[in-house]
Amino acid sequence: MAAIEMKNIVKQYGDGFPAVNDVSIDVADGEFLILVGPSGCGKSTLLRMIVGLEDITSGDMVIGGKKVNDLAPRDRNLAMVFQNYALYPHLSVYENIAFPLRLAGASDSEVDQKVREASKTLELDEHLERKPGNLSGGQRQRVAMGRAIVRDAEAFLFDEPLSNLDAKLRGQMRTEISRLQKKLGITTVYVTHDQTEAMTLGDRVAVLKRGVLQQLATPRELYENP
Ligand code: ADP
Ligand code: ADP
Repeated sequence: MAAIEMKNIVKQYGDGFPAVNDVSIDVADGEFLILVGPSGCGKSTLLRMIVGLEDITSGDMVIGGKKVNDLAPRDRNLAMVFQNYALYPHLSVYENIAFPLRLAGASDSEVDQKVREASKTLELDEHLERKPGNLSGGQRQRVAMGRAIVRDAEAFLFDEPLSNLDAKLRGQMRTEISRLQKKLGITTVYVTHDQTEAMTLGDRVAVLKRGVLQQLATPRELYENP
């Protein structure tokens, strides 16, 4: 079963041409899917419809086998990793990762077990007492991912997470995201306008143009048949 099924998804804002026009994509369990295309092609709109931040004009969004068209974002069990990572600056790494568990009313021992497990996987266990302001960009990103892991989210969603970084850091983070995604085996949808990211990060690449899905293929297939 696909983790995320987009079935004939349409988004119409006002009366122009649709921002997303009849897009169907199945994202397999554990797959890393890239949504790529030029500015205005509809990739953020599509991602926001997966997360539930945007209503779907027509079509079905199915997550974990369940139709979620009418579910609020908090009921979809997805983890959006924002560009600025949205960490709490006054809280330690430990408490930043623990935050969703505390919200959900988890016991201290459950919080502790999950935070320690996640921070070990993400190689943050040496940094649990630090504040986000004293961390590198890569470490901050891992804290944001940690917060998603402890919730057992169905999927990670990234919206251009590297676009504000300089080229060197972007390269490092690309490698890091790719490595961690494979290690965690969590289904991931990643929006970018950057061809290099599209061709190096994902298992498959969905190319959008003016709201229409132009190609859906592995990077290798795209490379051989652009
Ligand atoms: P991308 O993420 O690929 O840059 P978007 O999904 O942001 O593209 O936008 C796709 C199209 O939808 C664009 O033409 C954009 O102007 C339009 N659009 C996006 N958001 C809105 C909105 N809230 N209201 C009206 N039009 C929008
Ligand atoms: P250890 O030395 O075994 O790593 P600590 O002395 O750091 O344990 O922490 C003891 C307990 O306090 C932990 O098991 C955990 O429940 C909690 N804890 C540790 N760090 C934090 C923190 N930054 N914020 C809140 N609770 C913490």
